[in-house]
Amino acid sequence: MAFEEITKPSVSDMKETPNLIDYQSTREDFDWYRDGFSGLDWLPDGGLNNAYEAVDRHVNNGKGKQKALIWIGKNGDEETYTYSQFKEESDKFGQVMKNLGMQRADRVFIFMDRIPELYFAAMGILKAGGVIAPLFSAFGPDPVRDRMEDAGASFLVTTPELKSKIDTMLPDIKTLQKVIVIDKSDTANIKTDEKTLLYKDLMKNVDATNFILEPTTQYDFSIMHYTSGSTGKPKGVLHRHQAVVQQWLTGKWALDLKEGDIYFCTADPGWVTGTSYGMMAPWTNCVTQIIYEGGFSAASWYEIIQKYGVTVWYTAPTAIRLLMRAGEAVVQRYDLSSLRFIGSVGEPLNPEAVVWGNKNYKMPIHDNWWQTETGAIMCANYATTNIRPGSMGKPFPGVTMGILDDQYNELGAGESGILAVRPGWPSQMFAYWQQDEMYNSRFKKGWYITGDQASIDEDGYFWFQGRADDVINTAGHLVGPFEVESALIEHKAVAEAGVIGKPDPIAMEVVKAFVTLNPDYEATDQLRRELIGFARDKLSAGVAPREIDFIDVMPKTRSGKIMRRLLKARELGLPEGDTSTLEDDG
Ligand code: ATP
Ligand code: MG
Repeated sequence: MAFEEITKPSVSDMKETPNLIDYQSTREDFDWYRDGFSGLDWLPDGGLNNAYEAVDRHVNNGKGKQKALIWIGKNGDEETYTYSQFKEESDKFGQVMKNLGMQRADRVFIFMDRIPELYFAAMGILKAGGVIAPLFSAFGPDPVRDRMEDAGASFLVTTPELKSKIDTMLPDIKTLQKVIVIDKSDTANIKTDEKTLLYKDLMKNVDATNFILEPTTQYDFSIMHYTSGSTGKPKGVLHRHQAVVQQWLTGKWALDLKEGDIYFCTADPGWVTGTSYGMMAPWTNCVTQIIYEGGFSAASWYEIIQKYGVTVWYTAPTAIRLLMRAGEAVVQRYDLSSLRFIGSVGEPLNPEAVVWGNKNYKMPIHDNWWQTETGAIMCANYATTNIRPGSMGKPFPGVTMGILDDQYNELGAGESGILAVRPGWPSQMFAYWQQDEMYNSRFKKGWYITGDQASIDEDGYFWFQGRADDVINTAGHLVGPFEVESALIEHKAVAEAGVIGKPDPIAMEVVKAFVTLNPDYEATDQLRRELIGFARDKLSAGVAPREIDFIDVMPKTRSGKIMRRLLKARELGLPEGDTSTLEDDG
């Protein structure tokens, strides 16, 4: 281990007692029924509904006056809603959807920026038995059409600006019944017709006093999420209401959420983190959630943490690398002392970033691992467990993970292989939408195959190496891009690094790195040589990159993941494949 273990203080020395005090004993004694399923309220007839657990139950339990969300608009507007108001608005939208004829399991697409109405609509749709399918608002017409056609969308909820972006393709969606337009500023001139309706009219005219929540069961479909598209065409992942059990419990134990916390999740609902941990986990745990409409900005984010007294912050490595790039001086301008816990997900968190966070935020950043398919956190660093920088921690209680060889037999500590999970966790995907063959191919010898490569150490910590597709085979060694990237970003000139295997007649593949530089550094041959030498010192000569290219912009998905397949396609002059989730340049 290149970086020293970060040890946690004893529980009695912590600011507050964490929810999960003893990982090991909890794990040994864990029971999904007792510790998970029984912790929710459930519907009177034994059914289960995500929105009921996230919103209504708190009102029924006398907590209606607590703040559910504080919204900060792009222009600095602010709106606050209590759980009671949240219930009222979502009941109304649920009634609207019922009146419009939405049926159980209908797919309702949500294509909009993060405004409060997005969340009212999402919860209303769930209450009325529909399936929410959120999209990134930055998508253009093609990705929206592809997904809506693929899913057989019945309804679309959007805003005037975004609707005009996709207007010409809407007639292509033959299954589409109604488009509901949310004109928050009330300034757009939307032409309504039989198919196009205004949210504000619908909400004004609806009577929800007798709204009856659709009696969904834990097996009803709740959400359909397209994957990030890091490795290829995004897959439609279908989840059921029972996912909320694990979203609630991981919120409580892996993010340490407590009633009354001020929680800030920076993910957009277009990415699964923005629903599992931007809706379900926080609200089922009765916290006040900060919803910021704006994008990344170090100063705005720190300002939010300071002003609202954020206690728990959940973000992603791409943002953390940008925060590091923004520098320590910016951190020092703010009072971030309200923070109690910081989590990260989406990509491997470079050990350098964990250590940087520990120095600058006075607490380590807790990396955790999961996927759209797993629906909730599967492996995590917890409030009380020591952190080995670069490791994604240990499996969540109730989750069994293993490392397998290419015959799907389990390997021991220290060996690298396929990262797999024993099926049966509550938030497991139900299907890849209309892709049964692909779904079935993910299950082998009693394991769910994640598509990632990893290893476990003697003490049970899991170490991510790379996606199976990205692993490099050079002169007989398997090299994970992550360790090479992490070594490179330890150099002060390097902001981000993306590493690929480039075909080579002798070595099969050679390691090639693409690097973006920090401000004040110039791309020179001398720096290139220095970086190669630097990487050789950190890694072995066989693993260090043979070639380094400087690039201005790292290709990433909208959820901020480095798209190595694109770096590779560009290097080899091959077709770029599906680029629907590619973040805009700059
Ligand atoms: P696609 O499946 O379309 O290629 P994707 O896998 O990026 O895209 P997501 O479901 O958003 O779509 O991401 C899950 C993947 O992200 C994981 O399989 C893993 O490769 C990566 N990942 C998530 N969290 C971590 C983490 N903490 N450490 C390392 N990798 C992570
Ligand atoms: Mg994936």
